Amino acid sequence: MKILVLLKEVPVVSEIKIDREKLTIDRSGVGKMMNPSDRHAIEAALALADARGGEVTAMTMGPESSEDILREAVSLGVKAAYRLTDKAFAGADTLATASVLKAAIDATGPYDAIFCGSSTIDGVTGQVPAKLGTMLGYGILTNACKIEIGEAGLTIDRKAGTGYEKLTAVFPLVCSVTEDANTPRKPSIRGRTASKKLVVEVMDNEKLQIPAESLKSPSKVMGLFPPPALEKGQMIPGEDPEAAVAELVGILQGHAAF
Ligand SMILES: Cc1cc2nc3c(=O)[nH]c(=O)nc-3n(C[C@H](O)[C@H](O)[C@H](O)COP(=O)(O)OP(=O)(O)OC[C@H]3O[C@@H](n4cnc5c(N)ncnc54)[C@H](O)[C@@H]3O)c2cc1C
Repeated sequence: MKILVLLKEVPVVSEIKIDREKLTIDRSGVGKMMNPSDRHAIEAALALADARGGEVTAMTMGPESSEDILREAVSLGVKAAYRLTDKAFAGADTLATASVLKAAIDATGPYDAIFCGSSTIDGVTGQVPAKLGTMLGYGILTNACKIEIGEAGLTIDRKAGTGYEKLTAVFPLVCSVTEDANTPRKPSIRGRTASKKLVVEVMDNEKLQIPAESLKSPSKVMGLFPPPALEKGQMIPGEDPEAAVAELVGILQGHAAF
């Protein structure tokens, strides 16, 4: 099987500073890391290759620094890596990002299965896997928290309210993976050696030839504001629990809570 895993380099969010006056994000000097759920996408891809045979390739659209996450993927067992970069890709929204990934998949594929993280910790949209799957015309399984490998495809469990729904898709498919889906393996010595020797294949728009209209980002950021502050909780003082419960019930009835 030919398997692809998509990885995104994200900032270490705890290091991001927010200017509360101007409501802007200061990313200068902030560390970078692999998006957490992408590590679980790598594990899902390697598990499929272990079960069905084949090789896993990694791909990212990002700056030169994002080659570190590709090397990390190779240390875990991924065999090859692509990085997509071009001035024309800067400022891409999720639709333009999916268009670039699709063009690179068309150029390097076809793939039987494409694994993604469920959502990033910076953009947090979770839109890229579904948009990409739609553009490719592949089956789409999102937010997998359990993955079963079948003969013809994959079956996943996805959280739905207080329970789970079971979804199946046949290959070729795109599957986005949550951090509940598996336990990522550790790098091997052979993998670490391979990651040091890795030559990342860089693809720009001269290679991909994506037309300008497919690189347009239709979404616009209209504003940036902090979430509303939580109201201070109300304490019910006193020694008598029954009286406190009666008072609490009265307050809740006052708010038409039941
Ligand atoms: C209006 C607008 C303007 C933007 N401008 C900029 C900008 O100027 N500069 C900028 O850096 N970002 C910008 N972004 C953010 C950019 O759109 C996102 O980084 C990107 O589209 C991925 O979205 P996400 O992080 O929500 O991914 P999600 O959909 O949450 O990601 C899910 C999974 O998809 C895969 N994936 C996502 N992105 C990539 C990638 N790049 N390469 C490989 N796999 C990937 C990963 O497996 C990831 O776990 C902008 C977004 C919007 C809406």
